[in-house]
Parts: sequence; C-alpha cells; structure tokens
Amino acid sequence: MTSDQRRRLPLIRWDLLDCSLQGHRTVGHDVAVVRADDALVLREDATGLRWHRCLRCDAWLPRAAPDGPTAEHLPPRDQIELPLRGRPLRDRYVLRLIALDRVVHVLGLGLLAAAVLVFSNSRGTLDRWWTWGLDFVQQHGVVIDTAHGSTAQVTGWFDTPSSHLLLIGVGLAAYAALEATEAVGLWLGRRWAEHLTFVATSLLVVPEVADLASGVSPTGLTLLALNLAVVVYLLLAKRLFGLRGGGRAEAAEREADSGWPALERSLATATGTGPTGRADAAAAPQVSTPHYP
Ligand SMILES: [Zn+2]
Repeated sequence: MTSDQRRRLPLIRWDLLDCSLQGHRTVGHDVAVVRADDALVLREDATGLRWHRCLRCDAWLPRAAPDGPTAEHLPPRDQIELPLRGRPLRDRYVLRLIALDRVVHVLGLGLLAAAVLVFSNSRGTLDRWWTWGLDFVQQHGVVIDTAHGSTAQVTGWFDTPSSHLLLIGVGLAAYAALEATEAVGLWLGRRWAEHLTFVATSLLVVPEVADLASGVSPTGLTLLALNLAVVVYLLLAKRLFGLRGGGRAEAAEREADSGWPALERSLATATGTGPTGRADAAAAPQVSTPHYP
C-alpha cells in the first residue's frame, strides 16, 4: 500500500464493520458453471476451488463447488441485489445513530407525558401525600423553606389547572410520537424522515439558543452542538431541499459508490489495472491464479 493510499483510507471502514455484523455478502454458491463474465464477483482457480467476492468489502472467500447446483450460472447483474458500500453505507450508520438518539427522546418524552397525565389524574391524592411528607419531615426537626426553591416549585404544580396539565401531557405525547416517526423513518433510510428530522431539529435549536442566552450550561451547549451537527449533516451530506444537487445528486452518488461501476472500479484499483477508484478498495485481496473456463 502506498503512502498516498494509506492517507486516503477512511477513519472507519464501514464495509468491514457491516460485514463483521452481518457477515459477508457473496453470490453464486449454487451455480454449476463459473463463466469468464462472472470474474468480477466469482472465480474458479486451477484446482477447482471457487472464490467468491464479498459485494460489500471486496474480500475474496474460498469455497468448494456445490455438490448439487441449483442454477446453471449467475443471474444477470440487474437481478443481483448489491449491498450498500462507501458513503451511502456510512450515511446509513449515521442516520441509524440519529434514529437511536430519537428513541432515547421518545422514552424520555413518553415517561414525562405519562408522569404529567398520572399527576393530573391523581393530583388530590398526591397533594395530600406531599403535604403529609412535608409536615412529617418538619415535625422531625428538618427545616424546609416551603416558600422558595424547588419545594415551592413542586407545591406550585398542585395549583396548575387540570386543563394546562392535560395540554402539557398531550403535547409531550405528540412530540414523542413525532420523534418515534422520525426514528422509524431514519432507521429505514426514508427520504421524508430526513426532511422531517431536519425541520423538527431546526425548531428545537431556537429555544435551545434562547435558553443559552439566559444562562450557559454544559448540558445546554452539548445538546445545541448535537442538534446543530444533525441539522448541518442532513442539509449538506444528505443534500436536503435541493442543496448540492439534491436527491438526484444523492441517487447518482449512491449508484457511483454502491453500484456495479463501484465494484469494477475498486477491483481495477486493487489490481492496478484500471483508473483510480475508492481508496479503501485497494486493500482487497486478489485471487492468485484465476482460471477462466
Ligand atoms: Zn464483506
């Protein structure tokens, strides 16, 4: 590997990560004949051993010819489903990371909504318990300032009108549902979910900035940085709203990075017989003595 190739290697090999989690993706395990035209993904050496190329990470995996083949040869390329590679694969991981973040939001918001609604329904009982608890600790010598601070704040909750509590509970539940919709859509890689997440996250940034204006806190800064990172990533990397060529450019990028041309390019780069392709493909092993019948 040249120093130039080493320099261009990505920090994370998403293809290797995906293969380690899901196994290699190879084809042609059941074919009777290996043709010269199959050499991009399937080869047979002089000993009869077959070499299957992983369609994702480019590793060549040896395998004996099948005892009872069920197909004559590989199907046409348009009938072989290619796994994601390159940037589209990286994007899938990033989107799923954002989806997991949304799941955490859903759990937090859901619990909060449930707590508010339960509080609203059982306010009388809880108010009695709260008053009894305050009296109890004060009777045992603990001095509590019930007129200020968090104690006064909790006491004030019991004076909140039920209609307000209901509105807050329903609002939290609705927001949790929105986040859940984002999480599902992002996990499945849907374009609409990227737009929805962009809009919802951008709206969140406004109160977060206002909150920081009244007082800077590490948590507030971290949340704002995370949300800004999500917004910028969606806008630029996912080319939302027509930016950097929009959905059409993204589809072209996906085809270039994950389609058959990408497999040809990375093999050509690995064997040094073609134009420069993706740098990480240079690590692909080669069949030493391929034989084409
Ligand atoms: Zn693989």
